[in-house]
Amino acid sequence: MSLRKNLVFTAIAAISIFCGCADKTNNDKNIAVTRDVFAMDTYMELKAYGKNAGPALEKAEKRIHELENELSATSDQSDIWKINHSCGKETAVSDDTAVLIDKALEIGESTNGALDITIFPVLKEWGFTTQKYHIPEEYKLESLLENVDYRQIKLNDKTVFIPENAEIDLGALAKGYTGDEIMKIFKSHDVDSAIVSLGGNVQTLGSKPDGSDWKVAVRDPFSPEKDMCVVEISDKAVITSGNYERFFTGDDGERYWHIIDPADGYPAENGFVSVTVIGENGLNCDCLSTALFVAGLGGYKEIIKGYQGYDFIFVTDDERILYTGGIKDKFQNISSMTAEVINND
Ligand code: ADP
Ligand code: MG
Repeated sequence: MSLRKNLVFTAIAAISIFCGCADKTNNDKNIAVTRDVFAMDTYMELKAYGKNAGPALEKAEKRIHELENELSATSDQSDIWKINHSCGKETAVSDDTAVLIDKALEIGESTNGALDITIFPVLKEWGFTTQKYHIPEEYKLESLLENVDYRQIKLNDKTVFIPENAEIDLGALAKGYTGDEIMKIFKSHDVDSAIVSLGGNVQTLGSKPDGSDWKVAVRDPFSPEKDMCVVEISDKAVITSGNYERFFTGDDGERYWHIIDPADGYPAENGFVSVTVIGENGLNCDCLSTALFVAGLGGYKEIIKGYQGYDFIFVTDDERILYTGGIKDKFQNISSMTAEVINND
């Protein structure tokens, strides 16, 4: 098992979802039906309650594989592969791909390019797609960055154009969208209580069967085997981007991680080591967690003003937790770091 998979597996084990036990039967509304899925390079754990939980999970698993087939940048059947090999011609894509590209362009705009899905060639150069990691030469990054610019992507209904030398990947947002789609399937099966963990992303439907909030732990980026805080939520996603999720140690002894700053092509190091976004729309949370990690201490305030109704937990590289007031009564710091409430207006 790769380091990445190992880490993700540990991540799932470490995400403390304090809810009912697993069982195959589902006649009792307090008993969970669970399903583990490996897709999108991630161990996913789905848990649903109620009499329709079984069929709902079945359908959800199918949908996860369908989305993976459409969205994976490395599978030659996917829309993304077709776009990346289109040699400057327009590509017809699925509804899902069109929705995601549209969202990526919108959030690229609202985050001043911190989210830029054309970063893919740079990500490849660092070895994050193959796990053959290396520190690129400066000149190589500079030349790859010439083709990084999300504004060059043209989405026209369900056709996509990107310039010949550009390539995209939806790794920053695919799992948030997948979580939303799973929730839709659960709802259409009249499931009203469920929780899923897709790597570091937790998404919930309704509350626990006993009516209380779900308690979701966020990991400590400085000791990822431990939890840092617990938030109580219902009907929301809790989505984290951190520098501990996928990284390698270079020959120089430094850590290099998978969230890249489009400004210079290096792993983003702008003051945050982890960013968690909490809100009803998993897709927005996923885009924002990656973008805010890049925007960092200097850029986050301006961005979060535009996202009222969302809450944020930032961990700074000097070991402080900053979190927004909306979760004040739902947030428990279980780390030795100081936690400070910040305004979002
Ligand atoms: P994870 O997928 O590990 O939960 P994120 O949601 O933060 O974490 O997404 C990280 C992924 O996003 C990277 O693996 C890469 O595919 C992509 N990515 C990295 N940097 C950027 C960026 N600046 N803009 C858009 N996508 C990015
Ligand atoms: Mg993300």
